[in-house]
Amino acid sequence: MPLTDKFGRPITDLRISITDRCNYKCVYCRTGNEGALYGDLPFDDYLRMARVLVGMGVTKIRLTGGEPLLRNGVVNFVRNLAQLRTPNNGHRGRDEYPLDIALTTNGHLLADLAQPLKDAGLTRVTVSMDAVDPDRFARITRVPNGYDHVLAGIRAARRAGLWPLKVNCVLMRGFNEDQIIPFGMFAREEGVTVRFIEFMPLEEGRTWSPTTVVTLDEILERMAEYRPLVEIPHARSETARRYRFDDGVGEIGIIAPVSHPFCGHCSRIRITSDGKIRTCLFSVWDHDLHAQMQRGASDEELEDFIHGVIQKKEERHHIGEPDFVPASRTMVHIGG
Ligand code: SAM
Repeated sequence: MPLTDKFGRPITDLRISITDRCNYKCVYCRTGNEGALYGDLPFDDYLRMARVLVGMGVTKIRLTGGEPLLRNGVVNFVRNLAQLRTPNNGHRGRDEYPLDIALTTNGHLLADLAQPLKDAGLTRVTVSMDAVDPDRFARITRVPNGYDHVLAGIRAARRAGLWPLKVNCVLMRGFNEDQIIPFGMFAREEGVTVRFIEFMPLEEGRTWSPTTVVTLDEILERMAEYRPLVEIPHARSETARRYRFDDGVGEIGIIAPVSHPFCGHCSRIRITSDGKIRTCLFSVWDHDLHAQMQRGASDEELEDFIHGVIQKKEERHHIGEPDFVPASRTMVHIGG
């Protein structure tokens, strides 16, 4: 049977954070401190968790962090994940097909790793980039000279055939809302899909307020001043609304969890770098899968544990509502 939560949502999408260290200190994410709070696990432990979950119906795994490319051995880990086969429709052993393995990275170390990752079995990559102007980029990431590395990483990923190639930009008022049109031009020139993400209250500095969010409507309005957009139909489980420019050149997406929540179609769970399952970005607790492994649980016992956890998946987030309770971890320590 496919893994389904109590609201009937199939759980097919797993995100694994392989470290909560990051070499960038983006203003909308981190306070500027150096550290990892929770540490990470040996790759074999993540591999076992992935194998069990794939056997239960997960068809897509995204590696994230912190910054996942900081972790030595990531290429080998992808190679091992690529050996896992997903059973079709829950019928184990029949019509197996390969996993979709994706990566979210800030791109700083991607130029040298794109081809080895592709050769190891990575399917596609999403690069986070919050400005197309190098000085603004440095101000947001708080790292000098990162822009050239990231651009080289994006181009290397394209050459390696890591496709579709997406560039994610978190918009935060006062920092980069003037980058909307330049990113539209960037999408057309570089042949990548640029996706704007609404800023969510998951930052270490607790600076979020509704007024800091640049909303989907505002992004569309601004981009239309540059060129008309045409909406592309998208799958219900897709987080992004998709648009192409009227002349067919260039695609953008908008991920709008604040102004247009998509919790009703959420198919995701996350494993943190220290081996906890999180059923929602905004969960106020996590579920210690790694502790189960440490106490010697069999694969069947892990499946039972996971089934129980999935039934606790939250119906929706409560961003902006009076009863909103901040998540128990910030984004860098969850894995976005
Ligand atoms: N280091 C990698 C990267 O930069 O893509 C992976 C981890 S990062 C936490 C994953 C994604 O979360 C990035 O696209 C980042 O921009 C986004 N992100 C971080 N904090 C966010 C926030 N408060 N609201 C919305 N997106 C956020």
